[in-house]
Amino acid sequence: MQVLYKSTRGKKETVTASMAILKGLSEDGGLFVPTSIPKLDVSVEELAKMNYQETAYEVMKRFLTDFTEDELKSCINNAYDDKFDTKEIAPLHQADGAYFLELYHGATIAFKDMALSILPHLMTTAAKKNQVKNEIVILTATSGDTGKAALAGFADVPGTKIIVFYPKHGVSPIQEKQMVTQKGNNTYVVGITGNFDDAQTAVKKMFNDKQLAEELDRAGYQFSSANSINIGRLVPQIVYYVYAYAALVRQGAIQAGDEINAVVPTGNFGNILACYYAKQMGIPYKKLICASNENRVLYDFFRTGTYDRKREFILTTSPSMDILISSNLERLIYRIAGENAAKCAEFMQSLSTGGEYTITDEMKAQLKDFYGNYCSEEETAQTISSVFKDSSYVIDSHTAVAAGVYKKYIKDTNDRTPAVIASTASPYKFTRCVMEALTGEKSALDDFALADALANLSGVKIPKAVEEIRTAPVLHDRVVNAPEMPETVKELLGIHA
Ligand SMILES: *Cc1c(COP(=O)(O)O)cnc(C)c1O
Repeated sequence: MQVLYKSTRGKKETVTASMAILKGLSEDGGLFVPTSIPKLDVSVEELAKMNYQETAYEVMKRFLTDFTEDELKSCINNAYDDKFDTKEIAPLHQADGAYFLELYHGATIAFKDMALSILPHLMTTAAKKNQVKNEIVILTATSGDTGKAALAGFADVPGTKIIVFYPKHGVSPIQEKQMVTQKGNNTYVVGITGNFDDAQTAVKKMFNDKQLAEELDRAGYQFSSANSINIGRLVPQIVYYVYAYAALVRQGAIQAGDEINAVVPTGNFGNILACYYAKQMGIPYKKLICASNENRVLYDFFRTGTYDRKREFILTTSPSMDILISSNLERLIYRIAGENAAKCAEFMQSLSTGGEYTITDEMKAQLKDFYGNYCSEEETAQTISSVFKDSSYVIDSHTAVAAGVYKKYIKDTNDRTPAVIASTASPYKFTRCVMEALTGEKSALDDFALADALANLSGVKIPKAVEEIRTAPVLHDRVVNAPEMPETVKELLGIHA
């Protein structure tokens, strides 16, 4: 059965999966959603025999129906290879009364790798299928993590170039080192003298600059974005929720057909939405437990039905979840509004102009699969410490928000259904806050010395991704002012006026 993609905001036209991946966003500003969620009509017994790549094929072929078997398998095999430090790709670790689904074994030791390692291949395949002759230029402004994950994904992928702008004085020393040591003949990393917003604004402007687009086209290039709302990032994330369920059956932890819960540390709502889609496909997830940090806009939304971004932005030790506008929530809103795009567009309009919207009672009734809660900074640190004490297992601050919220869920509901906790970053990615939580004191050590200390304390080996950048040579040292960014892009691409 063919699955097409339509906008959440009103444009009636449908596009193929490959076009949705190329476009990223619909012209009306809405997000692409599948016209129907395909059923996963494969038995759990069969799924339990599959490895990660085979599972990925079974799931993704049902969503990306205009990709051929060869195309899709080639994308999958190019993505989930020895860039990951374990053959299992996404292993489960039993600890603290739950199953931690480790999504951090890729190139940048965080969960963004699960999607960003395959997106470049989906995108170049999509370009070929749609007779796009131009080379794809990925343009990104980053505040740290996404930039590196995108660089690692696109490095040396034929038919692409990637240019990442970051605030020269606005990222952590490790984050900067990760980026400026990036290998690959098609990668460019440029520091800017302004802050993240300056970089972001200039990138958005370049995307909308028709004259620049024409100049690029003449030189054989076109821009694209690796944004987290791209359907090419969402679909690969459904895979590990299917894989985790089948793995629990394989291990004998549950029987085929048993329900499980999922706990997801949430920011942009992409990861947990992927679990919601896995459930719609037929995998028996019972509750989707949405864990927030002190930026608890989603917790308030699930409790009250009002989404209100008008609040103080809090910087926490789980920075990848410091978000007040969860873009992917729009796909859920669209669905619970009965796929009424006009209604969805209205909510999004009032969010952008008035800073809030309130859903109807009828819509709220459809959120019963979800449970929301949050952890304070103190609770997050306590959770890192208690999980290590009780289970000798080290988790990072984002995962700890989820583990802490899971404890609150059990206390609230006494629901002992087996649970999978999405573990979204290696503790070595957020070493300082993890070590401070474990030792209970501030440290004067630098980040690499702290990594050594964590290895000593925990017995977990330092991942290759951290070890490598310790001594890696700096390959990118260009710094420009924000207004010079378009000129820089042209220069990097060899375009002359
Ligand atoms: C991006 C990210 C999240 C949040 O995921 P969303 O899909 O944005 O909800 C959580 N943890 C880590 C480590 C991340 O990088």
